[in-house]
Amino acid sequence: MRKTLVAGNWKMYKTPSEARAWFKELLERYPTTPAEAALMVSFPSLPAAQETLSDTVVAYGAQDVSAHVEGAYTGEVSVRMLADVGCKYTVIGHSERRSYHRESDALVAEKARRLLEHGIIPILCVGEPLEVREAGGAVEYTLSQLEGSLEGVEIEEHDQLVIAYEPVWAIGTGRTATPEDAEAMHREIRAWFARRFDLAFANGVRILYGGSVKPDNAAALFAQPNIDGGLVGGASLQVESFIALLQAA
Ligand code: 13P
Repeated sequence: MRKTLVAGNWKMYKTPSEARAWFKELLERYPTTPAEAALMVSFPSLPAAQETLSDTVVAYGAQDVSAHVEGAYTGEVSVRMLADVGCKYTVIGHSERRSYHRESDALVAEKARRLLEHGIIPILCVGEPLEVREAGGAVEYTLSQLEGSLEGVEIEEHDQLVIAYEPVWAIGTGRTATPEDAEAMHREIRAWFARRFDLAFANGVRILYGGSVKPDNAAALFAQPNIDGGLVGGASLQVESFIALLQAA
């Protein structure tokens, strides 16, 4: 059985002190839920996450990592730094990085390697832009991104990786994929894993949906057989709505 994961992606919101207060409030109000909670926060907030969330049920991680091990790479953050502050997960290949920072599939694959070498679970994002969906090429596009972003990446166990299907047209737009459309893509992604690895891997790997997930649409999305939770931007910023997402699982 795959455990539902509700992962908040805070993007470039919240200072470390705001993050610390938020974490404390979440722990005080933590609901009964079958889901796992995780918060993907900005680099400066990771020590606050480590201090407040270590040894709790709430996991945390970063939103990106350098493909380099270490060296003269001004502004970059290495995987060893992330491991040192206790990251369990780290987002890679988010569409905002692919488009604003021109990250290629090959670079994302390199980042996946770095994380896996240090036992941090990549939350690997894939998903098509609007024009591709409208032209009927969404599945082909998304699977090719998946293929490229995992090329040459060695993974032994299904729990070493999480996938987030985030159609670009649904991110921050209020326009969510219907549960049926999202489910259809998740099925395709799982079938791809069965071909690339094996059936056991495909059945175990968690595939999250991302793109305008809100408390009022989360239950219908999470109820789909191949949707194992969400990677949530806007609705993860308030404790109240994050709790509602956990309760929708
Ligand atoms: P929204 O939930 O704000 O649409 O953002 C989705 C996302 O990009 C999560 O990574």
